[in-house]
Amino acid sequence: MSPELKLVCLECGETIDQEHPHSTCRSCGGLLEYTLVPGKEKTRFSGPFTFWRYRQIMPRVSRVVSLGEGGTPLQRSRRLAEAMGIDNLFLKDESRNPTNSFKDRSAALIVSDAASRGYDTLVCATNGNHGASVSAYAARMDMNCNLIVPKAVDMGKLAQMMIYDAKIVESGESIEESIKRARKLEDELGWYQATTELNPLSVEGLKTISYELVEQNGVPDWVILAMGSGATLYSLWKGFLEQEQLGLVDRMPRIIGVQAEGCSPISRAYARGEEKPVDIGEGETEASAIRVSEPIYGALALKALKDSDGYAVSVSDEDMMSAGKEMAKLEGIFAEPASAAPVASLRTEGVGSLIESSDNVVCLVTSSGLKALVTYFKAANRLASTRGEDVAWKHVTAAYSTIQSLSTKPSREVA
Ligand SMILES: [Zn+2]
Repeated sequence: MSPELKLVCLECGETIDQEHPHSTCRSCGGLLEYTLVPGKEKTRFSGPFTFWRYRQIMPRVSRVVSLGEGGTPLQRSRRLAEAMGIDNLFLKDESRNPTNSFKDRSAALIVSDAASRGYDTLVCATNGNHGASVSAYAARMDMNCNLIVPKAVDMGKLAQMMIYDAKIVESGESIEESIKRARKLEDELGWYQATTELNPLSVEGLKTISYELVEQNGVPDWVILAMGSGATLYSLWKGFLEQEQLGLVDRMPRIIGVQAEGCSPISRAYARGEEKPVDIGEGETEASAIRVSEPIYGALALKALKDSDGYAVSVSDEDMMSAGKEMAKLEGIFAEPASAAPVASLRTEGVGSLIESSDNVVCLVTSSGLKALVTYFKAANRLASTRGEDVAWKHVTAAYSTIQSLSTKPSREVA
């Protein structure tokens, strides 16, 4: 018998019916989570090394929409390891997913669920990667995709959303405001809620990264990843806990969460020994993927960090960009700034003093650098200037002129 998944409220503990989709608990407004109940037989995975290999530990869907997600490489990174002074460094390269980010895992499951339930319209608040993913999977299923985005979104991600034919509406300065708007639209129009923070299937999709890591190279000593809302860190930890529960692993990794110095409500709370994210007002960082000032999964991420005997740290935008360049130069992997934060953290005193040189370390590369081209062009240009080259500058100027010369004004239709 396969494991069973119950949907429960993390606040009041109520068991929720799975007949209809739910974004939060109807009784108390708390976050919902699927809890795994192991079956009688030992869980074994079969089939090709893809996302859907792990169907039995995910909530059931009757229709599957796939673009070939999951099964991403775990690249042993010898040159980068040497530069960082450790022996065993691996990069889990999630930029190889269909829309070049880890969010394809949650989007595949969410859109499959919406299709299984017969929905034809989705709503999703997003600051980038998740929106790009959801719009691609929605396109494949011929579903209407309404994306609510905050003011600043990376140009590459926005281009993906547009080309995948999503309807894009800007709402608010921050992702928090966009999420409120998406909730309102769900309530008023009955659209399927595909926002990461409001759909418990997100965690279920993302936890498969942990299952893959274990099948690829056993349990790492350390898993290092960037934190925005805290959902990814929490998801990976949940994946490891489940594998322990299923008897698939007999030890657990230690988890390190990394935030941007200008936007670090979780890392600051960790440093102060607090259980909830610190109120930082409006955070600022060029790494838009982790520009989240009020992290909905912050308290759960803090608990995961504590339970895993882990650690949290912040790095500057400049350090992320340098780490991004080193990853590209030494390993051939082009990561967006937020995805370079884990590697940047290896150079911090806190992380450096925790990791033994012989430890097995995995850094999660969540998304491709192609999505944040403007940010990298600026950095490439600074590098080119120091070398007395002006190639990057010439191309950036040309790109900006092209954008400025576009005469069609985008539609500002409000949903
Ligand atoms: Zn509740």
